[in-house]
Amino acid sequence: MITVLRIGHRIGRDKRITTHVALVARAFGADKIIIDTKDSHIEDNVRSICARFGGDFEIKSGVNEKKIIKEWKGTIVHLTMYGEKLNKSIGKIDRNRDLLVIVGAEKVPPQIYEIADFNVSIGNQPHSEVAALAVFLDRYNVGGWQEKHFNGKIEILPSNKGKKVVSKDK
Ligand code: SAM
Repeated sequence: MITVLRIGHRIGRDKRITTHVALVARAFGADKIIIDTKDSHIEDNVRSICARFGGDFEIKSGVNEKKIIKEWKGTIVHLTMYGEKLNKSIGKIDRNRDLLVIVGAEKVPPQIYEIADFNVSIGNQPHSEVAALAVFLDRYNVGGWQEKHFNGKIEILPSNKGKKVVSKDK
């Protein structure tokens, strides 16, 4: 079970990027996203995508992130440009334990660096939580997310030309 924890979410300002973090989490094999700040708009948006495109992905906002981190029984990975190189960390993470992947927005509090089992960098340049999460999940799942079936009402058939979409509502 993979849960993504988004911390530092600012309503309004981070609306698009946190939605993208959630959608990347869903598409690349995570089971759930939890967001520190309550944001019903993002919850509704992501749930609406899940309802149409399928899967069991869960979203919850307005959580007490300190409590979640403190009580987490599995592994905690924090994605940060200051972390250890992905190539070095990835093999050390136990795939049999539940995983909490933390991504920030603004400056991340020092306690997160301390409590994480692994502070992992996706390169040591600043970029984006969306990109960092996608690369990390791809490597963690060894690309397996590509074979996942979501069984949604809408299914896109891969095509080299044009759009091929099956709508199961009709
Ligand atoms: N300056 C912030 C800090 O000190 O944490 C980073 C802000 S960055 C825009 C937002 C988030 O993107 C970070 O908290 C981290 O999760 C992720 N991120 C950005 N660059 C990264 C990198 N090179 N490797 C891993 N994660 C990265």
